[in-house]
Amino acid sequence: MRYSGFRVIKEALTGHKGWTPAWRDPEPKNEYDIVVVGGGGHGLATAYYLAKEFGHARIAVLEKGWIGGGNVGRNTTIIRSNYLLDGNEPFYEFSLKLWEGLEQDFNFNAMVSQRGILNLVHTDAQRDAARRRGNAMILNGSDAELLDTAGVRALYPFLNFSNARFPIKGGLLHRRGGTVRHDAVAWGYARGADQRGVDIIQNCEVTGFRIENGKILGVETSRGYIGAKKVGVAVAGSSSRVMEKAGMRLPIESHVLQAFVSEGLKPMIPGVITFGAGHFYCSQSDKGGLVFGGDIDMYNTYAQRGNLPVVEDVIESGVALIPALGRVRLLRGWGGVMDMSMDGSPFIDRTQVEGLYFNGGWCYGGFKATPASGWCFAHLLSTDRPHEVATAFRLDRFRSGRMIDEKGVGAQPNLH
Ligand SMILES: Cc1cc2nc3c(=O)[nH]c(=O)nc-3n(C[C@H](O)[C@H](O)[C@H](O)COP(=O)(O)OP(=O)(O)OC[C@H]3O[C@@H](n4cnc5c(N)ncnc54)[C@H](O)[C@@H]3O)c2cc1C
Repeated sequence: MRYSGFRVIKEALTGHKGWTPAWRDPEPKNEYDIVVVGGGGHGLATAYYLAKEFGHARIAVLEKGWIGGGNVGRNTTIIRSNYLLDGNEPFYEFSLKLWEGLEQDFNFNAMVSQRGILNLVHTDAQRDAARRRGNAMILNGSDAELLDTAGVRALYPFLNFSNARFPIKGGLLHRRGGTVRHDAVAWGYARGADQRGVDIIQNCEVTGFRIENGKILGVETSRGYIGAKKVGVAVAGSSSRVMEKAGMRLPIESHVLQAFVSEGLKPMIPGVITFGAGHFYCSQSDKGGLVFGGDIDMYNTYAQRGNLPVVEDVIESGVALIPALGRVRLLRGWGGVMDMSMDGSPFIDRTQVEGLYFNGGWCYGGFKATPASGWCFAHLLSTDRPHEVATAFRLDRFRSGRMIDEKGVGAQPNLH
């Protein structure tokens, strides 16, 4: 069934009896050509592009819980292409271009909203860094504008401009950045993949890999053994635990990141805004809630819940930037498990096991990467060669000294 305005009107007039399930609930088959482990955004996008762009059939996505239950449905929904380094920016620009056509491509309303993202600067040195980053973005085909204090005030008059501890000296505006409804991305890719014959199998946990003579034969799951010629793993915060079952130790640590939503307010924040003197980012959802977050909790964990000191820290930063936030009530908050890599950049690579491929290390920036990650992982699974915008995302880059350290803080996963 194709979705359209006409279909919505027709169903409204005929008692909504014509809607069909958005995807099937198939039993797992004994064998597939390609098994994708993890039904998050990246796994579902991979399956979608494998079927649509690379012409593969006999594909399954195995998800231990329900699709959208992981980070794809837990993030603060920000998309952007405002990276500095050559290893990253062409990839994120490719992703943003895919976001721009995604809803038409998979025929699902994901509420892609390019409302702009503004990174504030509070010192002269920060302004220099923002200018350098903006130039790198423009050279890579993205967009960037450097605003002065008056330019920021025109867009966000309610920020703390008077007698602030961290005076606002300007900001780097990336107009094509914005937000996307996160769980709709999982649903849209799932529906699109299912329409092309992909089996999406929920409540199916991968518990081990069957490997013989260095070659993958299939996966052990909570619903029995499933054979596969190729297996792609995209399990985000569970990466180290899953790849350990294939005998691999990854340069990844898992940390929890929290997100928060306030009570609904009248339209207040036009775009996405980030504080440059503390870790705080905020946008406003279409229902009116302020959606915001900050730092990860600073210890390793696989728990999908966070702790109060970070709640305090995030809200302190928020109130320093937007004093009016002190009057707003917090409605809810939650946590997700982040696959923090040592240099803050991801991996899309083969492994030493023939036929086993890995996608992970997305830290807290993998939502914006979803379309490009799926496309590039599908390219790798299909052709055995990295896509041209993902050639730097190698697992051996720490051995060869080719780190992609966007923040320049070294091998400190908690600081990226
Ligand atoms: C609070 C928060 C805010 C964030 N904000 C942003 C943001 O604003 N912008 C941005 O770009 N990124 C953001 N991120 C990061 C982004 O959400 C993640 O990097 C991205 O979603 C990870 O990829 P995924 O969607 O495939 O992960 P997930 O949705 O977590 O998918 C992985 C799936 O693998 C499944 N799985 C795990 N183990 C197994 C197994 N053994 N067998 C089968 N299935 C398994 C899990 O159940 C899960 O569904 C945020 C994350 C959090 C938690």
